[in-house]
Amino acid sequence: NIATEYEYTTLADIQKINIHRAKFSHKGTFGHAEIIGGAYGKIGAIVLATKACLKAGVGLVTAYTPNCGMQILQTTVPEAMWTGNQPCDFYLEGNYINTSKTIGMGPGLGVHPKTQAFLHLVIKATSTPMVLDADAINILAKNKEWLKDLPKNSILTPHPKEFERLVGSFNNDFEKLEKLKEFTETYNCIIVLKGANTAICSPNGQIYFNSTGNPGMATAGSGDVLTGIITSLLAQKHKPIEAAILGVYIHGFAGDLASTKTGQISLTASDLIKNIGKAYL
Ligand code: AMP
Ligand code: MG
Repeated sequence: NIATEYEYTTLADIQKINIHRAKFSHKGTFGHAEIIGGAYGKIGAIVLATKACLKAGVGLVTAYTPNCGMQILQTTVPEAMWTGNQPCDFYLEGNYINTSKTIGMGPGLGVHPKTQAFLHLVIKATSTPMVLDADAINILAKNKEWLKDLPKNSILTPHPKEFERLVGSFNNDFEKLEKLKEFTETYNCIIVLKGANTAICSPNGQIYFNSTGNPGMATAGSGDVLTGIITSLLAQKHKPIEAAILGVYIHGFAGDLASTKTGQISLTASDLIKNIGKAYL
């Protein structure tokens, strides 16, 4: 049943997803996201993800970084709250208390051994779907026995290299898609395999190819913006597979809109963030 196993996401599919904001809503209606990550010298990744999370419509957002990120976050994203209270200024470590927010974790996180242990605490303390990106994926690739602790329907957003670390090597695109389905079925998760025509695979092996985006998006911080958008949609109570499909579509469309102004060559992740609003229209 090849015809039904693979789908190409078009505007018509996206328009079926309800993004209407009810008149008598308030910020609590749109959820509270917690963006966890950052390390000394890589706080910008959390700034980008946090800004994108807000632009994608979340009610409230808290950035959770090591202490060195506090002033940076409070200055660059005044809308966001900050938390951390870590024993170390430079990378995340120590205890984690789950406060029922919707978690997106990984941008700029680093892979310090103590940060690896911290990630394991976070996933064990969480029972609702979360978004895992970048070094969160690299850490899971080094500690595959932790994958069974992932909350069901969590969304992993690897770029091709991160995907290969996670599932091992493959010889061709057919094998790649087989590995993709095998992984999501085994761990009951969703994978967003990023690139041109990003492939989104559900826990039952259905694959959706995205139709928006352009090579201008192959630029630093682009994936961090996607993490913020998908976490925002999850916090707004979209079903995880819907959050992944809509998030990838909006991210790509924001890239297409941005490129009409900057061109592909000059496009930066901050340009993506500026165009998220228009990508929803
Ligand atoms: P990352 O490598 O984590 O920064 O993620 C890169 C982001 O840019 C992903 O969302 C990719 O889908 C997107 N991207 C990278 N290269 C291309 C491309 N050639 N065409 C469209 N989107 C791309
Ligand atoms: Mg990335």
